[in-house]
Amino acid sequence: MELHICHIYPDVLNLYGDRGNILCLRRRLEWRGIGVRVTEYPIGSGGSLNGADLIFIGGGQDFEQEALLDDLHRGRDAEICAAIDDGLAVLAICGGYQMLGNSYETHDGHRCDFLGAADYYTVGGEKRLIGNYLFRCGEQSGGSVVVGFENHSGRTFLGPGVQPLGEVLSGYGNNGRDGTEGVRWKNVFGTYSHGPLLPKNPELCDAILETALTRKYGAVMLEPLDDSAEEQARREMTDRLTAEKK
Ligand code: GLN
Repeated sequence: MELHICHIYPDVLNLYGDRGNILCLRRRLEWRGIGVRVTEYPIGSGGSLNGADLIFIGGGQDFEQEALLDDLHRGRDAEICAAIDDGLAVLAICGGYQMLGNSYETHDGHRCDFLGAADYYTVGGEKRLIGNYLFRCGEQSGGSVVVGFENHSGRTFLGPGVQPLGEVLSGYGNNGRDGTEGVRWKNVFGTYSHGPLLPKNPELCDAILETALTRKYGAVMLEPLDDSAEEQARREMTDRLTAEKK
């Protein structure tokens, strides 16, 4: 087995070491003897996404999201939407997650028309939503409790029938109001969690890998790895955030 990971806009969407998620995806495949190939698609790179098994898009500031719009609307948008409709697995973080929705109106009044791959939109707020946070993934995403770090001005609102990735246990998530975090649409996993997210949350990493592998090869269950160090770190953070909330 082999997965081909396509990293979209690594040059502009890579806040807080988001590319560390790719290292984690790669290692967890290699440790199980599964092949992995990573291709980068920076601004202006052209090149088709044909043959992709998993798309990764990191986060970026408003400025960077605006800077990539021309390139996005030169055909990359239609290509990503078609891939998502076709069931391709996608992990998108913060600014990248916002980019898959309909639009983002920044706090200072700039409107970014995005992909509309799933029905949600984002509006910038005055106060940034910052901090370590906790959410519980929905059943279809493995149900694990995720420790994350968020830093966004955008408030995201999901359209009717669009499921979140999880429910917020502590922190803000999509908008600080409705208790939702991220999006789970077709095989898209969208989240506000930087971090990088996956090394701290191996169960979620494996849920994403299984989604991508199952689409390519039919039902795949990954063999377990020794995640005791990751689990200990996650438990400590979970305990700390739960105690802070009281
Ligand atoms: N620019 C977006 C916001 O502030 C995304 C930020 C990010 O990716 N951290 O909402």
